[in-house]
Amino acid sequence: MILVSACLAGINCKYNGGNNVVPEIVELVKQGKAIPVCPEQLGGLPTPRTPAEIKGGTAQDVLNGRAAVIMRNGKDVTSNFVKGAVETLRFCRDVGIKQAILKSRSPSCGKGYVYDGSFSGRLTEGNGVTAHMLMENGIYVITENEIAKLRRYEGK
Ligand code: SF4
Repeated sequence: MILVSACLAGINCKYNGGNNVVPEIVELVKQGKAIPVCPEQLGGLPTPRTPAEIKGGTAQDVLNGRAAVIMRNGKDVTSNFVKGAVETLRFCRDVGIKQAILKSRSPSCGKGYVYDGSFSGRLTEGNGVTAHMLMENGIYVITENEIAKLRRYEGK
C-alpha cells in the first residue's frame, strides 16, 4: 500500500480549496493500491486556508522546536504541521505503509526542495515536515515529479 498526498489524488484539500490531480495517482487509488492523506488537514487546519511556509530553518529544526511554520498572515501554525506529521506517521505504522508519493515543494509534503519562507515563490533545499518525518522513520518517499520521470522513461 502506498500513501499519497490527497491533493495529488484529486481531493480538494489544497490551501486554496483546489487540488493537484495526477491521473496515475488517481488510478493507484482506484486500484486499491494507494491511500490519500492530507497532513495539513490531519493537523487540524481548515480548507481553504492561508498558505504557510517553513521559516528560519529546516523541517528537522521545526520538529526540534528551533524553526517555525508561519502563514502568510503571520500566524504560527507549527503545532498543526507537527501534529499532521505525527498523525500521518502513526497511520502509516498502523496499516504497514512503507512508501509514499508526496506533493513536491509543499511545507508538509515536499521532498528535496520547499518554499523558502519568503512567500516569493523561491525554493530552498529541504523537505516538508511530514515528508521529513516519514523519511526519518524508514518510509521511502518520492514526489509526483519522479512519477512523471518514470512515465517518460517508460514511453521511450
Ligand atoms: S498538505 Fe500535502 S496533501 Fe495536503 S494539500 Fe498540502 S501538499 Fe496536498
